[in-house]
Amino acid sequence: MTAKIIDGKAIAEAVRQEAADETAALKKQFGTAPTLAAVLVGDNPASQTYVNSKGKACEAAGMGSVTHRLPATATQEEVEALVRALNADPAINGILVQLPLPKGLNEQAVLDLISLDKDVDGFHPMNIGQLVMKGRVPQFIPCTPAGCIELLVRSGIPIAGADAVVVGRSNIVGIPVAALLNNADATVTICHSRTRNLPDIVRRADIVVAAIGRAEFVRGDWIKPGAAVIDVGINRIEDPSKKSGFRLVGDVCFAEAVEVAGAITPVPGGVGPMTIAMLLKNTVRGYKLQHGIGA
Ligand code: NDP
Repeated sequence: MTAKIIDGKAIAEAVRQEAADETAALKKQFGTAPTLAAVLVGDNPASQTYVNSKGKACEAAGMGSVTHRLPATATQEEVEALVRALNADPAINGILVQLPLPKGLNEQAVLDLISLDKDVDGFHPMNIGQLVMKGRVPQFIPCTPAGCIELLVRSGIPIAGADAVVVGRSNIVGIPVAALLNNADATVTICHSRTRNLPDIVRRADIVVAAIGRAEFVRGDWIKPGAAVIDVGINRIEDPSKKSGFRLVGDVCFAEAVEVAGAITPVPGGVGPMTIAMLLKNTVRGYKLQHGIGA
């Protein structure tokens, strides 16, 4: 059996188009566009690339985008003052502080400051807390985990009642994705570096989410035939045949898993494109919250 490939690029494009359509309607109604402010501290090249692509995606959807760049020498007080100013600015609907912040800055203190109504990354402890509490609705859901669920839903993969195994328990992926699967009525097992018999646990899963950060760690013979596999990992491995000298692979051995799974996300082109698409959706949501309309 060869798995259906879940086309993250196409699904992300559809989500981006929905954000663009909503933006056009909001512009018509209110005369302004949802606007994202990105805070970039220091000169980490990967962070610069991410912030640039987020800005471009906003513009392509007709949304506003401003980037505030601070030097790596910025103090905690300077970064916090900027976040406070953005919280108070009515023209800003979403605030994204690009992580990681340079060493010496207290990341958690900065994230805790972001207004709950503008926390488009969804990393505020209040938003995460509401996500894991039964019956509570967070203002925002973190983009990559939300993207994983969107891929499952838009691919017609049933979540309610499914056995889901999430490998990884980070605050930005593993924990929120497990909470979302639980909220969607899956029976969820969270695995991590101290989990015993990991392959056996993964073998029970109807849905596997891999967010580990280890190239091709999950093997094909760990996958239950017909399972849905969402591979969040992005890892560089050497590849002399490429001009760059490397290629990107996920946390799942795609070549093996594709032969067993029912559906699987490729890397690249799976979860990756969903992150920015969900960020656009969250920025539209921020705008609606601030304009008092149901998001
Ligand atoms: P973290 O390093 O924060 O977390 C990794 C998790 O994997 C930890 O919970 C860790 O367990 C677990 N783990 C590590 N080794 C093992 C092992 N041998 N067996 C079982 N579990 C293990 O990573 P992130 O969650 O931030 O990212 C995970 C991957 O997703 C990375 O490749 C990253 O690049 C990618 N990513 C992709 C995004 C996208 O947009 N597509 C966005 C964010 C991340 P423990 O808690 O015990 O240490």
